[in-house]
Amino acid sequence: MASGGGNNRNGTHRNSLKGTTTTSTASTDKPLSVNSNPSKPAFKNKSSPLTGASSGLRKSSPGSLGGGAAKDDAGVPGRVRVAVRLRPRNAEESVADADFADCVELQPELKRLKLRKNNWDTDTYEFDEVLTEFASQKRVYEVVAKPVVEGVLDGYNGTIMAYGQTGTGKTYTLGRLGEEDTANRGIMVRAMEDILAEVSPEIDSVLVSYLQLYMESLQDLLDPTNDNISIVEEPKSGDVSLPGATLVEIRDQQSFLELLRLGEAHRHAANTKLNTESSRSHALLMVHVKRTVKGREPAHSSDNGNSTSMARSLRPPLVRKGKLVVVDLAGSERIDKSGSDGHTREEAKSINLSLSALGKCINALAENSAHVPVRDSKLTRLLRDSFGGTARTSLVITVGPSPRHRGETASTIMFGQRAMKVENMLKLKEEFDYKSLARRLDIQLDKLIMEHERKQKAFEVEIERITAEAQNRISEAERNYADAVEKERLKYQKDYMESIKKLEEKWMMNQQNQGNERKEQMVHIAEEVAEVKKLLSKETSLRKAAEEEVDNLKSQLAQLKMSEALANSEILKLQKMVEDEVCQKEKLEGEISMLQSQLLHLSFEADETRKRLDRGGPGKVPGGLDSPVSQVRSQLKDSGNGEKASVAKLFEQVGLQKILSLLEAEDADVRIHAVKVVANLAAEETNQQKIVEAGGLKSLLMLLGSSEDETIHRVAAGAIANLAMNEKNQELIMSQGGISLLSTTASHAKDPQTLRMVAGAIANLCGNDKLQTKLRGEGGIKALLEIVKCGHPDVLAQVARGIANFAKCESRASTQGSKTGRSLLIEDGALPWIVQNANSDASPIRRHTELALCHLAQHEVNAKDMISEGALWELVRISQDCPREDIRTLAHRTLASSPDFIAGLKRLRIDY
Ligand code: ADP
Ligand code: MG
Repeated sequence: MASGGGNNRNGTHRNSLKGTTTTSTASTDKPLSVNSNPSKPAFKNKSSPLTGASSGLRKSSPGSLGGGAAKDDAGVPGRVRVAVRLRPRNAEESVADADFADCVELQPELKRLKLRKNNWDTDTYEFDEVLTEFASQKRVYEVVAKPVVEGVLDGYNGTIMAYGQTGTGKTYTLGRLGEEDTANRGIMVRAMEDILAEVSPEIDSVLVSYLQLYMESLQDLLDPTNDNISIVEEPKSGDVSLPGATLVEIRDQQSFLELLRLGEAHRHAANTKLNTESSRSHALLMVHVKRTVKGREPAHSSDNGNSTSMARSLRPPLVRKGKLVVVDLAGSERIDKSGSDGHTREEAKSINLSLSALGKCINALAENSAHVPVRDSKLTRLLRDSFGGTARTSLVITVGPSPRHRGETASTIMFGQRAMKVENMLKLKEEFDYKSLARRLDIQLDKLIMEHERKQKAFEVEIERITAEAQNRISEAERNYADAVEKERLKYQKDYMESIKKLEEKWMMNQQNQGNERKEQMVHIAEEVAEVKKLLSKETSLRKAAEEEVDNLKSQLAQLKMSEALANSEILKLQKMVEDEVCQKEKLEGEISMLQSQLLHLSFEADETRKRLDRGGPGKVPGGLDSPVSQVRSQLKDSGNGEKASVAKLFEQVGLQKILSLLEAEDADVRIHAVKVVANLAAEETNQQKIVEAGGLKSLLMLLGSSEDETIHRVAAGAIANLAMNEKNQELIMSQGGISLLSTTASHAKDPQTLRMVAGAIANLCGNDKLQTKLRGEGGIKALLEIVKCGHPDVLAQVARGIANFAKCESRASTQGSKTGRSLLIEDGALPWIVQNANSDASPIRRHTELALCHLAQHEVNAKDMISEGALWELVRISQDCPREDIRTLAHRTLASSPDFIAGLKRLRIDY
C-alpha cells in the first residue's frame, strides 16, 4: 500500500517513539562491540547515520602496516551501519495483497520502521537509514555503499552486504548492471565506477575476485572448474585470503561489467547443473584496491626531513590496500517456508548453516559475548573482518511489503537490529611496498644501464668521429705540407738553375777579360821565378859553405875536446898548486896581521909627517914643482928616509900583490892605509910598472868608483896621477873609463887637494897625442873647466897645465896635418878661461895659459875666435912681456905671420 507507506513517511519524534518501543530498541544502549565504546548508542549518531562513520575516521591516524601487531593497532571504532530497504509491491503482490495493508510502514525522516503486528499494534525500529520503495538506486548507493567505498580507497577494508528474504531485492540492490537503464545500476557497478575514477592506473591496482559459496563449497565464478577454494587466515592479523581464487585486474568499467556478466553466467550455469537457484548461494565480490600514497611519508615514519633525494628514491613506496567485499547473501527465508520443493534438507541445512552461523556470530558480537563462533561456517570465516574486525561494514536489509511474509520480514529486521550493535575497529591497511620498490629499482637500474650503454655507444661514436676527423685533418695537413715542400723545391731548383746560368755567363766574361791580363802576369811571374831561382842557388851555395864551416868547427871541437882533456890534467896539477897556495896563504895570514900593526904604525907616522908639513904652511912648500907626483915624492922625502925605507921594506917583505889585495879589505881603515901605501909606492917610478902589472891601476880606478870616502878619493887620485905620467898607463886609464871616474870624483869633491889630484891626473892624460880625440870625447876638457870653479890656485895651475898639454899636442897634430878644423878647446869653450888667466898672478897658471894661447895661435883656423875673445891683446903682451924667451919669440912670430892677426891688430889700431 503505497498510500499508507506515504503517510508513514511523516514520522513522529524519536523521543516520543522511544516510550512506545516495546522491542529491542532499548538494547541499543548496550555496547555494540567488544572493542567499541559501550556508552555510545547507535541512534545517537544524528548526522547521516551511515556516512557518519566516515567522520569518525582519522585520515592521518596511525595506521597499521601490513597488519603487524603494534600498540597502534587499536584503530578507531566503527559500528556496523544498517539500512533497511523496502521493495515495492510486485505484480503478484499487488494482486494478491490488494485487500491487505503492507506489514511495514517506513518513517524515513525519523529513520524508523514500523512493523505491523496486527491491526492495532506495531513495533517500531530505528535504523541508520530507512530506504523506501521509492529510493533510487543512486541514493541507495550513496547512503549505503559510498562511505564504505571511500574507506576502501583510503586504505580500509570495507564490507557491503545485503540480507533479506529471497525476492526482496538483494541482488537488485547490489548486482544490477543497469544495462537497460543506467539509473538501475547497483552498488557493485557504482562502487567500481567510483573506484576506477579515483585510482591511478599507473601506480594503483584494482583486482577482482568473484566467488560463490554454496553448501560450504567456495566456487570461483571466474573459473567454474575451480570449485573448492580454500580459505587461508593469517592468524596474527586475522586477514583472510583466497590463494586459489582468480584475480582479474580491472582497468575500466567495461571489463568489470563483462566480468560480472561472466560471473553471473557461471553462477547460473553452476546452479542449473546443481539444480538449484541463485537464491540458495552466497555471492561474494572481492575488490582489492592497492593505492600508492603520493608525496606522503608513511604515517609511522619519524624521518627528520633531511633525507636526500637518493634516500627518497630508495625508500619503498607507501601503499594502502583496501579490500571491498560485496556479499549478496542467500535468501534468509526459512527452508520450510521457502516453497522449495525438491531440495533436500541437507541443502537447506547447508544454506542455513552459513546464515545461522552468521546470525550467531552477530548475536555474540552484539551481546559482547566472549565467544564468537566464527569458525562454524565458511561464510563467517570469510566475513571475519566484516563483523567484529577491522572493516567498515554496511549492511542493507531488504524487506518486502507483503503481510504474508511478515514473519520473514520481522526476522530480517531483528537481524539488522542486532547487526547495528556490532562495533568494528577500523584500521588503515598501510604498508611499504618493498616489492614495488624492488621492481621500481630494477626498472630504474635497467634504465640507467640502458642510458649508460646508450651514452657509452654515443661516446664511442663520438670518439670514432673525432678520430676520423683528426685523421682527415692530419692527412690534409700532410698533403698540404707535401705540396708546399714540392712547390718550394721547384722554386729553389729554378732559382738555382738561373743563378748557375748567370754565374756561367759571368765566368765566361771574366775568362775573356782575364786572358790578356794573365799573359802579362805570366811574364812577370816567369821573371820572378828566375830571380827566385837565382836566390835559391845562392842560398844553396851559402848553405854548402855553412856546412863546410860546420864540419870545420866540428873538427876544431874534437881538437878542443882533446886539449880540454889535457887542460883537465893541467887543472888537476893546478889544483894541487892551489892547495899548496892555501897552505902558503895560511902562513901568510899570520904575517898580514903582523904587517897590519906595522901599517898602522906607519900610517900614524905618515899623518904626523903631514901635520908637520901643514904646520910649515903652503908658502914653505917648494913652489917650482909642476906635478902632484913630485909633491908626493917630496912629502915622502920630507917624511924622512925612515918612512920611505919602511915602505920599501914593506914592499919587499909583503909583496905588491898582498898590498893591492888590501885595497879591497872589509875594514875601511885598512883600505885607507893600503891606498896610502900604494900611492907612496906609485910615487916611485921603479914601482909604477909593477903596480900596473899587478892590477893596481885597475884597483885604484875601482876605488874611485866604489868608495865614498874623500881621503881614499884624494889619495887614489894622487896615485892615478903618478901612474898617469907613463904613456902606456895613460892609455890604460883611458880604456878603463878613467875620464868619467875622475870627473865624477871631481864633482863630488870638497877638498881642493882632491881636485888638485884629479886635475893633475887629467892634465897628464892631456899630454898624450894619441888620446886627444877620445879624451875630449869623454868630456875631459869639460871636466877641467868644471874644476876651475873651485878657484884654488893649486887646482887652477893643474887645469892650466892640462890645457897647455892639450893645446901642444893639438898644435903638433895640426902641424902634421892629422888634425884639421878649429881647436877642440875652442869648441868646448875653454878659450875665455885661457884668455882670462893668461895674465894670472900665479906664475904656474900664467905660464901654462900663455903657452896654450901660443899653441892655439899657431893655426889660422883658430884666429877669428881668438880675436873675438880678446886673445890678441894677450898674444901681444906675451910677445913683449913673457919672461921665457922662447915663448916670447913664438908669440911674436905668430902675430907677424898670421894674416887674420895682422888684420885684427890693424883693426884694433894696435901698432905692432
Ligand atoms: P532477491 O535477490 O532478494 O531474491 P531480487 O533482487 O531478485 O530479489 O528481486 C526480485 C524481484 O523484485 C525482481 O524482479 C526485481 O526486479 C524486483 N525488485 C526487487 N526490488 C525492487 C525494487 N526496489 N524496485 C523494483 N523492483 C524490485
Ligand atoms: Mg538475489
